[in-house]
Amino acid sequence: MPSNKNLEKVSRWLSRWKPRLLLDKWAVMPSMEDKDPASKDGFVDMVVITVDTNNSEAWLRFYPRLWKESAEYQEMSTIHELAHIHTDHVRILLDKAVKAGVIDKQEVKEKIEDLTNTVAKIVYKVYQKKKSSSEYHI
Ligand SMILES: [Zn+2]
Repeated sequence: MPSNKNLEKVSRWLSRWKPRLLLDKWAVMPSMEDKDPASKDGFVDMVVITVDTNNSEAWLRFYPRLWKESAEYQEMSTIHELAHIHTDHVRILLDKAVKAGVIDKQEVKEKIEDLTNTVAKIVYKVYQKKKSSSEYHI
């Protein structure tokens, strides 16, 4: 799929998921990368977010590998990256503890990923239920 089609798709997802994730005041700028990044420990990033918590701005970089996945996986990955906006304050705090040698870097990374995934899954499931049940409202 050409990248401008993907950009349109991403714009729709941002309009859909930013309010649902309570991120209305955030400016989220997407960009389409031409090449996949190098793998880290056998894992290749497909979409990456950079968060500026001071200015409520974030940058989403989408890599070509993502567009080979299912539509649901693509959207869920985007929701996951947006959920990182909520967990980034905690990550920054914990990084100070990592630098002080108080806690393990990998452990922090895993816990932050788990928390981010939980936030993303809750929001995704809530809105799936809303779609299928008229009496379910929040
Ligand atoms: Zn993540």
